[in-house]
Amino acid sequence: MGAAPVADALAERAYEPVIGLEIHVQLSTRTKMFCGCELSFGEQPNTRTCPVCLGLPGTLPVTNAEAVHFGLMIGMALGCEPAPRSIFHRKNYFYPDLPKGYQISQYDIPLARDGRLGDIRIHRVHLEEDAAKLVHAGASGRIHGAEASAVDFNRGGTPLVEIVTEPDVRSAAQAAEWLRLLRVTLRQLGVSDVNMEEGSLRCDANVSIRPAGEATLGTKTELKNMNSFRFLERGVNAEVARQEELLREGGAVTQETLHFDPRTGALSPLRSKEEAHDYRYFPEPDLVPIAPTEEMLERARSALPELPAQRAERLESDMGLVPDTARLLAFRSDLGDFFERAAAARVGDDSKAIANWIVGELVANIGDADPADTKLEPESLAALVGMVREGTVAGSAAKDVLTTLVAEGGDPAEIVEAENLGAAGGDELARVVDQAMADQADAVEKIRAGNDKATGAVMGAVMRATEGRADGAEVQRLIRERL
Ligand code: ADP
Ligand code: MG
Ligand code: ZN
Repeated sequence: MGAAPVADALAERAYEPVIGLEIHVQLSTRTKMFCGCELSFGEQPNTRTCPVCLGLPGTLPVTNAEAVHFGLMIGMALGCEPAPRSIFHRKNYFYPDLPKGYQISQYDIPLARDGRLGDIRIHRVHLEEDAAKLVHAGASGRIHGAEASAVDFNRGGTPLVEIVTEPDVRSAAQAAEWLRLLRVTLRQLGVSDVNMEEGSLRCDANVSIRPAGEATLGTKTELKNMNSFRFLERGVNAEVARQEELLREGGAVTQETLHFDPRTGALSPLRSKEEAHDYRYFPEPDLVPIAPTEEMLERARSALPELPAQRAERLESDMGLVPDTARLLAFRSDLGDFFERAAAARVGDDSKAIANWIVGELVANIGDADPADTKLEPESLAALVGMVREGTVAGSAAKDVLTTLVAEGGDPAEIVEAENLGAAGGDELARVVDQAMADQADAVEKIRAGNDKATGAVMGAVMRATEGRADGAEVQRLIRERL
């Protein structure tokens, strides 16, 4: 075989991305992982420190029980098996944000392992401490003429849980979607602020590609600290494209750590495998193992709320919602709570219609705001949806009523009455339809000839004449009756 057919074969080959995620979650405990300092929320730099989290010689760490509790909750929520006994290790490296010269983390025996969230298997969940924060002051902070960086130790020692997935993700979009599921799950647990912009949720993506159908994994690269869902998706897509181009040209992927610059879209190496750190892990001699008692396990288990994935299933199977709507409501618990209160307020079964009004009109009205913070009561939404079903108010007019309810509250029936928004009906509507059909004689001819789309012209005329107060289905019926 000559060079050309080989090149052609490479050019045509289909590749499959393989992605594994490593997620760091800052826990919202009261105090740090191994000392009594309170967690910092934008206080003056270096005001939330003590000899332990500054790494001064002679100090001893003590494990934060609340962090262990949160860690167990996360492990259980992700379907992992908590280890009967796990230990801490020292992970050694030298960096200005790490005063001890090592990070206390977990290594061969993590807190929990072997779980699943959605379609993705969880490899492990472990506890560790966050590093301090380097503040690059640049030219404005010159010391002895050189550009300066400063260290803020307030963040140093913040409890972290690291979650490592199996390489089960197959696309950048799936990675972002799954991370959203993880975030909403963690939020529901109440163990973290899970804010990517503020760094309480951080994600590294391990990326490789392989010829479609192949079972062995390709060489992976690691994208560090994707700090938004959009950047994660863009970064992974850029890296998959880069690797494909490399392989199509007959080259090979080098195992390395990469930085994705969201401004330029460029990927640049941070370090390669050759210069990878040798962390010289060894067991932390100053800390006792974590051996959860039955009481600790039970306490974590009973602290678990209904999780978004379970709620989505319940909304689908018990309330008959379609999967997309169920997921939307389950993943935004404020909407889900509002929906369940509104659905409970109905005697009849308007659940599906109420859900559609929430994910459609209501979200269009209030965006990311919590509906419970508006003037709209779940009971009034339920009543409004019931009026639409009964035909006492037309859909388009009901949208205006909803806007009023959101801004001012009140009773939907009274608003309909006061603003004369009640559905046009009876003789009034019949007269309007007669008039519209007389005015739209061309359209009526087309409808007679079998062109159903021409109904739109008559419908439009009726809606204009009634200012949107006509019920579409009723108008359709009246038109047919007259043909
Ligand atoms: P390392 O030893 O380099 O940290 P690990 O085996 O611990 O690698 O895996 C780290 C992360 O990388 C995990 O999320 C895992 O699923 C993922 N991963 C491992 N191998 C690959 C691969 N070939 N392609 C994509 N992701 C991978
Ligand atoms: Mg790793
Ligand atoms: Zn401290």
